[in-house]
Formats: sequence, C-alpha cells, structure tokens
Amino acid sequence: MKPRSSCMFVAICAVIACLFASVASAAAPNIGVLIYKYDDTYISTVRNALTKALDGKATMTMQDGKGDQATQNDQLDVMISKKMDGLIVNMVDAQAAAGVLEKIKAAGIPVVFFNREPNLDVLKTYDKSVFVGTNAADAGKMQGDIIKQLWENKAFDLNGDGKFQYVMFKGEPDNPEAIARTEFSVKQAALNGVTMDQIGQTFVCNWDTALAQQAMESALAANEGKIELVIANNDSMAMGAIAALSNVGYNLEGGSKFIPVIGVDATDQAVDAIGKGIMSATVKQDGEAMGQAVATIMLNMAAGKAPLDGTSYTYDDSGIAVRIPYSPFMGK
Ligand code: CA
Repeated sequence: MKPRSSCMFVAICAVIACLFASVASAAAPNIGVLIYKYDDTYISTVRNALTKALDGKATMTMQDGKGDQATQNDQLDVMISKKMDGLIVNMVDAQAAAGVLEKIKAAGIPVVFFNREPNLDVLKTYDKSVFVGTNAADAGKMQGDIIKQLWENKAFDLNGDGKFQYVMFKGEPDNPEAIARTEFSVKQAALNGVTMDQIGQTFVCNWDTALAQQAMESALAANEGKIELVIANNDSMAMGAIAALSNVGYNLEGGSKFIPVIGVDATDQAVDAIGKGIMSATVKQDGEAMGQAVATIMLNMAAGKAPLDGTSYTYDDSGIAVRIPYSPFMGK
C-alpha cells in the first residue's frame, strides 16, 4: 500500500507542476529585440538592463543589426514571421522607421522604439507604438553649463583672447541626438556668457573612438597650441580625442598639460578617465533607467494593457514619447 500511495503522490505532483509550467509559459510573452549595433558602449548598458528586467517575465530574442539597416530589416522580417508578442526596436537608421513601422503595424504587434528617435508623427499613425528616449537638447545644454564652469578657470584661455577656442566632434550628420547636442552645447555656453570660437569644421566621427582619434590628430597637427576645449557628442569620441592628446603629451595622468574634454554617456571608460583627471566631464545618459523603462512599457503592451499602466512614467508633449532625464557628471 505505502509505495503505491507515494507513487500516486509523485504522479499528482508531476501533473500539478506540469500545469503550472504550461500556465507560466503561456503567460510569458515572446519579445523580439532589434539593436542597432552591439558594439556601442552605451547601448550595451541598455541591453544588459533590458535583459535583466525581462528575465523571468518574457522570452527574449535579441539581434545585432551591426550598424546596417538592411540587416536589421531582415531580422525584423524573421521576428514578424515568428509572430512575436512584442517588439523592441533600436533603429540603425532612424529615417527608415516609416517602413519598419508599416510592417509591424500590418502584423499588429505592439512596439517600443528606443534611443534613436524616429519621426514621432510617423509613430503616431500606429496606436500600439511608443518611443522611449532622452531629451536630446538637455544633454547639449548640460554640456553648455559645464563649459561655463570650466571657463571660470582662466588658465584654459591659452591665448588670453577671452574666447574659448573649441573643436566639435559630432556623432552622425542626420542623427537628431547628434544635431541637438552639437547645437545646444555651444548655444547654452553662449547663453551662459562664454564667447565660443570654433576651430575648423565639425568632425563627424560616427560616435567612434578610432575615427575621433584620427580627426583629433589632424586637428592638433594643423592647430598646434590653439585648441582650448574639446566637445564631443559622446564619450567614445571623447576617448579618441584624449588618446590623440596623450600622444602629444597632453591629458596624461599626473601630467602638467591639460585641455578640457567633455563627452556624453558616462561610460565606464569616461568615468574612469574623469577620476584620473585626464577628462573634464560627461553627461550621464542613464542606460539602466532606459532599459528598465523599455522593458516595463513593453511588458504592459504585450499584456494588452496601456503602455504606462501602473508606472510612474509620463509622456512628453508628443503624447507618445517617454523621456529619461540626463544628469551632469564632473570631476573634482
Ligand atoms: Ca582663447
């Protein structure tokens, strides 16, 4: 009698466990995530936060667009054919969002776009779409406020002309974040009473360290001793500028010659460089908060709820975008 009843108990337990497992898997949505490229420091932070936030709540499939919109389009087609319950899209080319949205809309899949901002008027044509980004102008304005603080140190006015001679590193020509950071950093500094004087053309370096290093090497060679400030749209390019500076004896740890360099993102490398005193400041783009927001909103939408249901997030004036705030990060 005894072995038989324990056997039945095990069998009943197995059935119950099986039922629970099937309920759990039915409740966990399949979420497809398309990333513009894995090899981007800030995006890696967002990816990690996103993975963590979805863990146990969704089955996630993530793809690397490798900086190529055609690759991302193919990845999207596969995800749509697999009938995902929700899609998270970090566009390679924000200008291609209309075509991407058209496909997602036809499939009726809820979508959260993040980071690289599509035209919001395009997104508004689909009621199951949300954008999570930052306020691009704010990052630039914070850089402008940092420039004012730096300018209080008159030693940075190397030629003593009362103007801050700067070089500008821009991410991409048509990227809205890049455009806003480039414009508002200088505008805000001017509003703060600093006379800004650009040296050379704006260097468009694709957010990339190596390209920025090359551009900075050329700029230093052509303008020896004239550059007083480096403004970069992101920390990766700021690191490239610092590498070029260090090659000619500037911005070395414990060294005597220093040209202020400002970035955006607060990547680990930048925070480390600021700690070592070889970089001035950055603007923190909170990748963890971004990843969490994207995950929370996506889970709501995949469950058929309103995107911001039960959250503390709010839409901006567009009624379709959620903005994660920036904060300045300066050295001592
Ligand atoms: Ca000057």
